[in-house]
Amino acid sequence: MLEETKKYINSLTIAYIFALSLIALLSMSAHVILDKVISVQSSAATIINVSGRQRMLSQRIAMLTCHYAVKQNDYNKKSLLAAITMMEKSHFALTHGDKTLGLPSTIPPEVQEIYYGKEYNLDNEVKEYIVLSKQFLDQPQDKELLVKIMDQAHDHLLNGLDKVVKTYELQSKEQVNMITLTQRIVLFIIIATLMAEALFIFRPMVRKLQSFAMMLYDLATHDFLTKFANRRLTLEILEKHIKRNKIDKKPISVMMIDIDHFKKINDTYGHKTGDAVIVAISKSIANNVRPTDTCGRWGGEEFLLILPEADVKEADAVAQRILSSIEREVIMVDDLRLKMTVSIGLSVYKDMEITMDLIERADQALYEAKENGRNRIKIR
Ligand code: GH3
Ligand code: MG
Ligand code: MG
Repeated sequence: MLEETKKYINSLTIAYIFALSLIALLSMSAHVILDKVISVQSSAATIINVSGRQRMLSQRIAMLTCHYAVKQNDYNKKSLLAAITMMEKSHFALTHGDKTLGLPSTIPPEVQEIYYGKEYNLDNEVKEYIVLSKQFLDQPQDKELLVKIMDQAHDHLLNGLDKVVKTYELQSKEQVNMITLTQRIVLFIIIATLMAEALFIFRPMVRKLQSFAMMLYDLATHDFLTKFANRRLTLEILEKHIKRNKIDKKPISVMMIDIDHFKKINDTYGHKTGDAVIVAISKSIANNVRPTDTCGRWGGEEFLLILPEADVKEADAVAQRILSSIEREVIMVDDLRLKMTVSIGLSVYKDMEITMDLIERADQALYEAKENGRNRIKIR
């Protein structure tokens, strides 16, 4: 039993460690995922920000070109140049990457298609727009050039720049959705593992320990041979009844039962037969008491019975039953047919009496029963 329990607890411990490691691993991965969400989100925010600014710059350049066409002063020229330079730099950063801005050097295929594909050909559009705008810096009177810039600003270029922003926005949303889903799955696995651990490891482990503790308690408090309460538990129970008596004043009877001439059995047939006789007599005793009574094995072939709520008359009746049922019984041990008797000393609890005095009186009564010829009951 002990070996089996040890093995079982060991296997549960291994399963527990495994589940704990799994939870630790999953928690770590959840942390890594969160980190990734943050970095993906911040890089996506930068790209969306820069490409959005390109869209704004394209319109600002168109507006500044008009200003410059109307009024060719230094301030207007400088403003236009600054916008062009910024758009040019940002375009390079968006298409080739920029570490300081946090822009990646590789651009996703959908965006690549916008920049270099036939439909938008945005790379060319931007470059052309920048070239035209720069040209205009030197030829502010060229109305044809101005019209070209205006046309481009409101047509293909704007559409392309807008498409880039929307593509990045969509991609960012998809990425976040994917990561959120992954995180939910990880969370679900963590919770499922915790529940499985509680259900399949913790609960059976507690149950096993409980039953093991109960088994140990049983071993420590009961007699192995008769399964009766041992001396310590019998005394404990009697003390409890006496405590309760102080409140409810209900009677308590105790009976000391001793097998007559038991030594002869041991001497004649051996210890094993003696044990069998003790067991047989303990069964007869148990069959004649109520479930609320306590049968204790007080010594070798001595039993102490506690009969709560039984006065002397009731206890005497029980003692008579025990005495005659044992007297009538033929105890069969292998081929032997044995006839045994017992002597009984009975005492009823007196108010304020200490436990040991009550037992002592039952013992004295038993002695008297023995002295008076055995197979009888004496009350004290
Ligand atoms: P009496 O009628 O005066 O009680 O005589 P008795 O022979 O029954 O009493 P005694 O006290 O002389 O002997 C009791 C014997 O019980 C002695 C002891 O070896 C034996 N005994 C005590 N415990 C056990 C046990 O667990 N198994 C067996 N087989 N014998 C036991
Ligand atoms: Mg005896
Ligand atoms: Mg004895």
